Amino acid sequence: MRVGVPKETTSGERRVALVPEALARLGEGVQVVVEPGAGAAAGFPDDAYREAGAAVGEPWEAEIVAKVAAPAGDEVARLHEGQVLIAFLQPLTDRAGVERLARAGVNAFALESVPRITRAQPMDALSSQATVAGYKAALIAADRLPRFLPMLMTAAGTIPPAKVLVLGAGVAGLQAIATARRLGAVVSAFDVRPAVREQVESLGATFLDLGVQGEETEGGYARELTAEQQAAQQAELQARIPGFDAVITTAAVPGRPAPKLVTAEAVRAMRAGSVIVDLAAETGGNCELTRPGEEIETSGVTIVGTTNLPSTMAAHSSQLLSRNMAAILGLLVKDGHLALDWDDEIVSGACVTRKEAAAA
Ligand code: NAD
Repeated sequence: MRVGVPKETTSGERRVALVPEALARLGEGVQVVVEPGAGAAAGFPDDAYREAGAAVGEPWEAEIVAKVAAPAGDEVARLHEGQVLIAFLQPLTDRAGVERLARAGVNAFALESVPRITRAQPMDALSSQATVAGYKAALIAADRLPRFLPMLMTAAGTIPPAKVLVLGAGVAGLQAIATARRLGAVVSAFDVRPAVREQVESLGATFLDLGVQGEETEGGYARELTAEQQAAQQAELQARIPGFDAVITTAAVPGRPAPKLVTAEAVRAMRAGSVIVDLAAETGGNCELTRPGEEIETSGVTIVGTTNLPSTMAAHSSQLLSRNMAAILGLLVKDGHLALDWDDEIVSGACVTRKEAAAA
């Protein structure tokens, strides 16, 4: 059984699907074939893979291809019928990409579709990468602020701590809260899911009561707010936001554009020197003025819309992703052979295209 690890071709993507350290976790009978240079941008040279027992060569012929980003059109052309592909395939938003894989007869597993049940926690790549993004967002906020985060008492006077607001307290938001707290900021947070209040408070942050409460789906995700709820949330935030030095936004509803939480007017009401780090930039942004992929300044406020923050910490994000990959491979491969157990809810839940379906 061979697992192929291609070099990522998406612009700006530095991660790799398997790091050398993870190879030992794959068990007997699994041979890894890494494309030359696949781990270089994440700090893992070809020699490190060779030392870990991998071959460096052509990854697309392997029975299983492990990738970070969805394959581009020319990469799909290199896949063959019956092959297994595991990657972030954006199944809720990239219908065309998924259909292309179906036509190729590939058994494709989307990392986003792994059910969020307890048994699947080691396979949860959304969580592992959101942890990196949340941490990095807090560091970016600290870096762009022209102020200290912690309170400082010096001979030259006392500096009050910065006030940070985190909107959306899922995996990324909670990590942003924890990181900003470690750096000494006074942190407040809001999420539409009421269950989050306790988690926010356990991290030493204050839950900001905006008087808006949404619903939670069975999978633990937020439901989209109604137009009225959204307007109420925007108005309430507009009144509160000028009191904060930095706002980190992470609000998301799977498969939907990012909810707009911070209006242009709210940005104008912020003090000069304030910072917004918008983790939802990839799906349009939580701030009306966010430009995905860019960092801008408007009325003295810096708005960071950098996408793919996990890629900026490629060594650790790849390491965590590799653990997720190894756990998924452990489910798909038994005794060195591909064994797809469609009765397993993780296998069937994560699968977005099946060879049988393509042939039908
Ligand atoms: P996500 O990335 O989909 O969304 C981020 C946050 O935005 C969520 O907390 C959501 O409630 C919030 N949000 C949505 N609309 C909002 C709005 N208008 N205003 C403010 N906040 C808004 O979520 P996620 O980080 O992937 O986590 C979703 C849930 O899944 C969490 O409850 C998390 O604990 C849970 N989870 C469970 C497992 C598991 O059991 N295996 C693993 C990971 C996460």
